[in-house]
Amino acid sequence: MASWRRVRPSCVAPASGLPGVAGWLSRVAAIALLALGGAATANASCFQSANPQIAALDAMVTQDARKAIEEIELRLAALDRANSPDQALRAELYAVKADAYDELDLDGEAREAAQKGLKLATARTDPVHLRLLSVYFGNVFDEEGLKTGITTIDAARVFQQPGTPAATCLLVTLGRLRHYQNRDDLAIVPLTQAYQSLAAGEPTPARIQAAIALNLVFLATRDFEQALAMNQEVIDWDLAHGAAQSLSTARFRRGEILTATHDYEGAFEEFTRARELSTVLHDEQGVAFADLRVCEAQIQLKQYGVARRHCQDAQRSFAAAGSTDLVKEARTLVAQIELAEGQPARALALLNGVLDHAGADTSQRKLPEVYRLRSMAQATLGNYPAAYADQSEFVRRYVQVNDADRNRAAATLRARFGADRAAEHNVTLQRELALLQERAERQKEQWRWAGFAAVGALLLLGLLVYILSLTARHRRQLYELACFDGLTGLPNRRRAAEIATEALARAATLPEPTTIALIDLDHFKAINDRCGHAAGDRVLKSFADIGRRCLPATFTLGRWGGEEFLLVMPDTALDAALAHVQTLREAALSIPLPPTALELRVSFSAGLATNDEMLKSLDEIIARADVALYEAKNRGRDLVRIADESYRMASTGVRRALRYR
Ligand code: GH3
Ligand code: MG
Ligand code: MG
Repeated sequence: MASWRRVRPSCVAPASGLPGVAGWLSRVAAIALLALGGAATANASCFQSANPQIAALDAMVTQDARKAIEEIELRLAALDRANSPDQALRAELYAVKADAYDELDLDGEAREAAQKGLKLATARTDPVHLRLLSVYFGNVFDEEGLKTGITTIDAARVFQQPGTPAATCLLVTLGRLRHYQNRDDLAIVPLTQAYQSLAAGEPTPARIQAAIALNLVFLATRDFEQALAMNQEVIDWDLAHGAAQSLSTARFRRGEILTATHDYEGAFEEFTRARELSTVLHDEQGVAFADLRVCEAQIQLKQYGVARRHCQDAQRSFAAAGSTDLVKEARTLVAQIELAEGQPARALALLNGVLDHAGADTSQRKLPEVYRLRSMAQATLGNYPAAYADQSEFVRRYVQVNDADRNRAAATLRARFGADRAAEHNVTLQRELALLQERAERQKEQWRWAGFAAVGALLLLGLLVYILSLTARHRRQLYELACFDGLTGLPNRRRAAEIATEALARAATLPEPTTIALIDLDHFKAINDRCGHAAGDRVLKSFADIGRRCLPATFTLGRWGGEEFLLVMPDTALDAALAHVQTLREAALSIPLPPTALELRVSFSAGLATNDEMLKSLDEIIARADVALYEAKNRGRDLVRIADESYRMASTGVRRALRYR
């Protein structure tokens, strides 16, 4: 569906001259274009077939519609001969055939082919069915048929997802039907929608079909600039694809636009080119249309002789094809020539013929011009009342058509404005949506990074905690190594000395003095010797356990070295200290030894010393305690002795208490 020469815009008048050199040149160009063959992507239909065989035929339609029809007939016959059950292929072949007839402006044949196809492709969502519907109704021109067409196409659209190729093509068809209805205000919206949805990227057959329809709508609404732009797009496409058939129509439509802008020279040139192409293509209907328009342009250029010949040729062709309205249009143009050449009687006769049946079979658009011409003829002949009546009729109808045109143009403008605003709004919405999406994307990205950062931070924190805990443990281990004895778990000598020093330093602040005891296990060498070193170790550990169990928490028992221990007793007077050490001594006696050493037992000797004003350091107090210990050993062991200085310094009460030990 690409031709649509039958749908003509407002009536424009007429013209001159033979094609001459320019004509021959364009004829040569037409033949060259045909020889080009063209790419297979050219398509006379908005609907594109997935079948390469059909796509090739579609291309052929735009190049030479007649040849395409012959080819399709051969293929249909071959399918029948082979008893092929492939109804889908047959239906699609009929669709292409209908488009070819459409291209040739043979609407009856186009409808017939489409109907045959529709009987074979009945599924309402089948693209071939939709294509057949489109081409069928695209070749209907009566009011009822158009109404049915619009209802049918609208119903078919319901089953299509918006934006799909089929949905877009149905929009184009709908626009075309609305245009036929003279409702360009309703045509512009679907067509603009379809065109804009296809506007991005390289042109496609679908976009070209939308551009063709828009060309007609813009022309009808007298937006010549846009009409020319759409037309140019089609011409460029046709030239690029060697589509001579559709180029002849595009040139024809360009001629119409130029006629409407009163550029009759330009129009004449375009119609001539269209005519050349149609001639080469043996497209009689195309030639007839071109003749009619060449005649019209030549009348305007006052080339009446040439105009007459073209009009007569057109009239003959249209009469042969039974197109009464077009025959009458040609007659009207001839009447205009007769008038211009001073033959009002002949003109009157022709115009009377045009206006028989009250002009019922003449386009409403053309009628005012017919009355105007007849009025002129009557006036020239001196029939003033008749001239006056026709003049009134002309004015009445002219105003009517003009008003209708103006209303149509205004409605279309309004619709375009609405569509543009909707499109703009759409674009704005899309932009906002894109912005929102981008923002959300960014936010997500930020969150992702925040997540990474959080996980990273957590890992780092964990690592730090781990390192710190390691270091703390390590430090604790180091501290333990540095401060505690590995065998007994008691503070080692260094730590015990520290604690004792601190206790001595604090002693002045406490009510009671600090007492220390040096403890040495008796005959330990013998235990080792008799029971083994391990048993000796066990004894040392047991002694440490007893110390931890029996002594107050404020006391510190440290391992002073070997089997020697230092007991620090802060805030403890000699008598209390003595009592604690005696308790310890008794408890130590219960440390068991292996049965191999029944004659041995665990005991210790201890020397006690307490701080006094004369005492300066830990060394001194230990030295005193050591002396007392030595004495205890000397006196037979398993004994606790008190350093003399301490004993002397002790209060009378304490001394009395100690006297017996
Ligand atoms: P005295 O009653 O005079 O103190 O006699 P003694 O045998 O206890 O004293 P001496 O100083 O002669 O011997 C101490 C022994 O203690 C020598 C050493 O082998 C032993 N000894 C020191 N440290 C340890 C230890 O950690 N484990 C064991 N099993 N024995 C130890
Ligand atoms: Mg010793
Ligand atoms: Mg000893």
